[in-house]
Amino acid sequence: MRIVVGKHDDGNIRLEDPTNLRGFSVETSGNADAAGEVLEVETAGRRAEKNGHVWVDVDAVRRLAAGRVPADWDARFDDLIAFASTRGWMSPDGGSILAHVEVGEAAAGTVPLIELNSGHSIPQLGYGVFRVPPDETESLVTEALELGYRHLDTAAAYRNESGVGRAIRNSGLRRDEIFVTTKVFNDQQGKERTPAAFDASLQALGLDYVDLYLIHWPAPRLDLYVETWQVLEGFARDGRSRSIGVSNFLQHHLERLLAQAEIVPAVNQIELHPILQQAGVVEFCRERGIAVEAWSPLGAGQLPLFAQPAVTEAAAAHDRTPAQIVLRWHIQRGTIVFPKSSDPQRMRENLSIFDFLLTPEEMAAISGLERGGRVGFHPDEWH
Ligand code: NAD
Repeated sequence: MRIVVGKHDDGNIRLEDPTNLRGFSVETSGNADAAGEVLEVETAGRRAEKNGHVWVDVDAVRRLAAGRVPADWDARFDDLIAFASTRGWMSPDGGSILAHVEVGEAAAGTVPLIELNSGHSIPQLGYGVFRVPPDETESLVTEALELGYRHLDTAAAYRNESGVGRAIRNSGLRRDEIFVTTKVFNDQQGKERTPAAFDASLQALGLDYVDLYLIHWPAPRLDLYVETWQVLEGFARDGRSRSIGVSNFLQHHLERLLAQAEIVPAVNQIELHPILQQAGVVEFCRERGIAVEAWSPLGAGQLPLFAQPAVTEAAAAHDRTPAQIVLRWHIQRGTIVFPKSSDPQRMRENLSIFDFLLTPEEMAAISGLERGGRVGFHPDEWH
């Protein structure tokens, strides 16, 4: 959840549940003062002077919104507080909400965090490096980190882990400020090979732990994914992978895995965009506390997504690009995304989606684009 306070593009206060599970979103208007001015928001006794995650006094938010909100706001706010309690977002005394406060222009630091079932948190938006050539990876990831990306998605199969690692080391950022995901590829599955593949990834990255290690594909014909999962459970136990998860798992793969797993996957990373929404597997994951990550969130640039009226009309209404609209649709559905671009302008654009809200009607129109078309392999056919 985040609370956006202060001068914004449109000077609104927004209270938003990014997981959008219950459709909360409250907008008020009229609190805009001078550009960038810090408002008197009490955050556990202190003013919110910069962007960040803070405890926000519940009453302070009510007072700030007083007189500027729709009549039903109070009831919806109570509802949201009840919901926040179930997610562990309330302080023990119930007086504060853990919120993201954004003051002034939306900044890179405003990417919401999603709590995984492992207890660790992942920035909801990151930078993916599939098809980034190894010799360009270090400079592009450096650019991404400078722009404010704090979540990087790579894989052994992308052959660019060492460039990712160099960029991390040279960034001057603390290790715990960056969330790093990598993946074990099909030909390295199984208890014989996965331990060495994991060591090789850590070595290429130059890290002593990763934040998330995934089985890249179920590769059912190899019939090794349950055994591979048991190896990953060892990495979670010894702390060398803070969280572990899967990628491209359909419901039947997950069912089989869960029947034998001791640790429930923290995420399932699947192809997901408005044309292919995978409602069944998404619901299955949500019910079991498995976060959903969308790969090719923009349809890998191969689908006629950006020309769809549902997207272009929202883009015109919010003065945003079609890519920003599609990414925002993912964010409001609670999905984790890491769009890829090699163009710094687009990288910046893809990060700048936390200062506007799509309306329920716009969300529904984009969801109406489902056609079931994949840009990648079918998980049962790729091994
Ligand atoms: P994507 O949906 O992120 O699309 C990338 C393409 O979209 C770019 O090449 C560019 O052509 C276009 N694009 C990006 N930003 C744009 C903008 N602002 N305006 C216009 N066009 C823009 O596709 P992707 O790279 O396939 O997926 C993202 C990440 O997901 C990958 O980098 C990788 O980390 C991950 N991924 C994982 C798997 C898996 O099997 N687990 C498979 C594919 C991708």
